[in-house]
Amino acid sequence: MPRRIAAGNWKMNGTQAALSELASIAAAAGEVSCTTILCPPTTLLQAAVQSSGSLAIGGQNCHHEATGAHTGDVSAQMLADVGAQYVIVGHSERRNSYAESDALVQAKARAVLSAEITPIICIGESIEQRESGETISVISTQLSASLPTEAQIVVAYEPIWAIGTGLVPAIAQITEVHDALRALLVKTYGAQGNEISILYGGSVKASNASEIFAVSNVNGALVGGASLKAVDFAPIMQALSDS
Ligand code: PEP
Repeated sequence: MPRRIAAGNWKMNGTQAALSELASIAAAAGEVSCTTILCPPTTLLQAAVQSSGSLAIGGQNCHHEATGAHTGDVSAQMLADVGAQYVIVGHSERRNSYAESDALVQAKARAVLSAEITPIICIGESIEQRESGETISVISTQLSASLPTEAQIVVAYEPIWAIGTGLVPAIAQITEVHDALRALLVKTYGAQGNEISILYGGSVKASNASEIFAVSNVNGALVGGASLKAVDFAPIMQALSDS
């Protein structure tokens, strides 16, 4: 069975003052049975690791090379060095704002695995692609071209139009995509594809979490806005543990 994972992405939010909130999230993580991950901004990573308890800490992005002349970038090796256990790669905000291609996302996923930590590979369709009936073909192409050779990965399906908007796909739409992703992972990795956690992301909150977690190939969530405060994130973790 894939691990059930509640992962939070703080994006570019949080100064040192937010470490007390992180400690509250870590305390809540100690109360649940699912895997919990928080990806704070890079500046807080090391401090976050120190107060994380059973909460795993992750990076939000990395360079695809381990070292070199890449001013302002951070490698997966560096993230692992300060205690990160996961790195989000291919988030739609990076694919769109920095024109990150599937090939680059794949190179980043490989770099994360080389650092002996786990990539969380994100994929998702735009509203135009959804409305023109291209969702399954778009997400299948994106995922195939972003996958590394090894199956030690987490996948996150995040429809771009659902991120930070309060819009959530119908349960039937989430089911259709997650079933297609599972089939693709099994085709790619054989039986190991059945062990990969597939997270849903996009406006997950306490009020819709249980319904989403009841979908058979949804193994957890990647949560943006609702991961910023323990009071919002803890019930999502709890809903996943209870599902
Ligand atoms: C995200 O950015 O990964 C995300 C899912 O954001 P939100 O939960 O705020 O929609």
